[in-house]
This record gives sequence, structure tokens and C-alpha cells, in this order.
Amino acid sequence: MDEQRHIPLPLKYRPNNFAELIGQELMAQTIKNAIKLNRIANAYLLTGVRGVGKTTTARIIAKALNCNEVTLGNGEFKEPCSKCDNCIAIGESRSIDVLEMDAASRTGISDIRELIDGVQYAPVSSNYKVYIIDEVHMLSNAAFNGLLKTLEEPPKHVKFIFATTEVRKIPATILSRCQRYDLKRIEPHELSDFFKSICDKEAVPIEDGALKIISRAAEGSVRDGLSLLDQAIAYSESNITEALVKDMIGLNDPIEILNLVSLLMEGQTLAALEKLNLLYEGGADPLLILRDLIHFVHYLTLFKVDAAESLKLSHTEAEFKAFEELATKLQVGTLSMVWQMLHKGLGEVSNTFSPISALEMLLIRIAYTADIPHPNELIEEISRIIEEDETLAVETTPAQKQSSVPKIDPKVQEIIDFFPGAEVETSDN
Ligand SMILES: [Zn+2]
Repeated sequence: MDEQRHIPLPLKYRPNNFAELIGQELMAQTIKNAIKLNRIANAYLLTGVRGVGKTTTARIIAKALNCNEVTLGNGEFKEPCSKCDNCIAIGESRSIDVLEMDAASRTGISDIRELIDGVQYAPVSSNYKVYIIDEVHMLSNAAFNGLLKTLEEPPKHVKFIFATTEVRKIPATILSRCQRYDLKRIEPHELSDFFKSICDKEAVPIEDGALKIISRAAEGSVRDGLSLLDQAIAYSESNITEALVKDMIGLNDPIEILNLVSLLMEGQTLAALEKLNLLYEGGADPLLILRDLIHFVHYLTLFKVDAAESLKLSHTEAEFKAFEELATKLQVGTLSMVWQMLHKGLGEVSNTFSPISALEMLLIRIAYTADIPHPNELIEEISRIIEEDETLAVETTPAQKQSSVPKIDPKVQEIIDFFPGAEVETSDN
């Protein structure tokens, strides 16, 4: 067997052209049309969360403009070949005419001056000089001003492509001179399909559950997902199983987390703490447990409003069923209150010397509160008692009525005490 150098999957399967770019069809089509009609904007601004393919798209645009095999403006669109000198140089970030800069590390006016120094000179071996500036929002005000002068009247042979995760930090003067594209987060099912195709190409069998977990953990980023997949391939001996991926990511078992939610909602404080400790001893990070809890309470709420269909794509069948079952036992009001409490606890758990004790305190608080009936239930309960009381007043002797007074449910009493000042309107007044 010949030793082959391992190429990381994110690099090996980095899209080379628009057709290979997943999840950004609309943007790809618009830019392809512009290239076809030779109506290419002077500056493009690509926005989106990390890992959605902004830099990759920028390089694809640069290739499409400068590929030796492409004739621009002949009314046809041709994907860049990825084989000519220009394409290869751009792919390896060493093209003499495509200049890249990361504004995260070079924010000053002198950096910008250095970059656009040769802006007036024609490209050496390409159609265009393309300037790609990543994380452009990091530029200083002076740097933006320096850039603006060129953006206002760029030479014909110059194109700018900016990428950013924080578009709000870009001055309006720059924004108004760019054609903006918002790259969308890639959906878990799109990622899942893509990762499956990669596994097929790599001849690595993978369980459906494992694919779903990786796609979910990637949080919309192809690059992050591919890194995880790479790791899973290295980690597995033959096929990639769900258990292996869970173990690898240090992911909490969703069913275990759901059990924890269920215990909390039932007010089973001790059992909930025991469950938490089991997870903790098993190596789970308190902050991750809390994040899962927040996600899961959100998911359960989606079930209550019939909006959970999309979860089928990111969860296994068993998990989906477990969510569905638990949701039927819960009320939207309680779920929403618990979600708020969990969310507030996020700061407490992440900013303390002992995250596990902060999480314990939070769960105790929730177990005590979640079990208390929702105010609506309470009003119903009180109305029922009052009604009964009135019936008794008519039909019973004063002695019998006296004996019926302490009939208030201890839970109801608890909530009356919990909301001091709360008044229940009775028909007596
Ligand atoms: Zn080419």
C-alpha cells in the first residue's frame, strides 16, 4: 500500500466552482448571470456566519473572472476550469493578480495602502486585479477612508470582494458601493446529504444517526462539519457509528438530557441532581449540558405549536419520538418560563469558579418553579374551589361549610404564596 499524504477533508472538498458550492444557489445564480452578461460589480460584499463559504466564494468569483479557459462577455457562463495556471494560483492564494488580505490582523491605513498600492497597474496575466479583504469590518476608520477613495473610482481592471461576519460594523459609505450577498447558514439536511456524498467518495460507511449528529454539531458550517467528519474517519476503524460520534464530540446523549428535562418539569429535584451528576461524572461539561437543556426546551416548545417538523431532519427517529411524548405532558407557559430561567443561568454557569455548582443551583431553582402550576391552571383551580364553595353555601349547613374551607390544594397555596399581592377576582365582589 502506498503511503498517501492525508489531505484534510475541508481542503480536499473545498468547492472549486459555483456548481460545487452548496446551500447558496440564489447568490451563485445571480453572480453567474452578472458574469455571463459582463455586468460585474466593482465590489462585492459577502456576509454570513463563519464557515458558510465566504472566502471560498470570493476565490470562486476571482477564478471565474480570471480563468484562462473562460472568455468573459460572450453571453455564456462557463465555470472556472480549476486546472489552468490562474485557477491553481488563486486556489493556492498565490496569484499575482488576486490579492488577499485578512483585515482581522491588518487593520491600519498602512496595510490598506500596501495592499492597493499597485491598483492603477494593469493585471499581469489575468483579466482583472481582484482584491479580497476578509473580515473587512475590522478595518480602522482611516483604513476605510483610504479604501473609499479607490472604491469611488476604481480603475476598470479592478474588482473588490469583501467578506465579513459583522456587516453592521461597515460604514454606510462603503456599503453603498458594494453589491451585497448574504450567504445563508447551511441547513442540517443539506449538510447531511453533502457529508453522505463525501463518505461515499471516501468509501467510509456511516450510520444515519452519526450523519445527523455531525450535521447538527456543524451549526450551518460546511468547514466545521467536514473537520468533524475527518476526525470521525480517523477515529473509527471501519464504519462511523452514532455512538462513536457522540463519544468523539463529547456530546450528551439527547435521551439523557430529555430525561433530565422531564425530571425538572416534574419537580423531582433530587432525581434531577442525581441525573446531572451522572452526566457530569461521565465527562459532560456543565455549560454544554446547559446549552443542550436550552435547545431542548426550545424544541419541546416547537412541538407544542406544531412547528417541530424540521427536527426530523436533524434528530434520529427515537429522539424525535421522545421529544413528542414529553411535549404532550408539558404546557407552553411553563416551557417558556423554564427557557427564560435556563437562559438567565447561562451567565451564572459560564462566569464562575464552579460551573457545576452554579448549574446545580439553577436546576434546583427550576425544579421548584416548574412544578408549580401555571397561573392559568391556578385560576381554573381557584375558580373551581370558589364554585364548589358557593354550591356548599347553598346546599350545606354552616358546620359542613366550615369543614370544607381548608380544602385548598397545597400546590395552589404554594403559588398563592409565591405570587404575593396576586388577587383572584371572585364573583362575591
Ligand atoms: Zn482556469
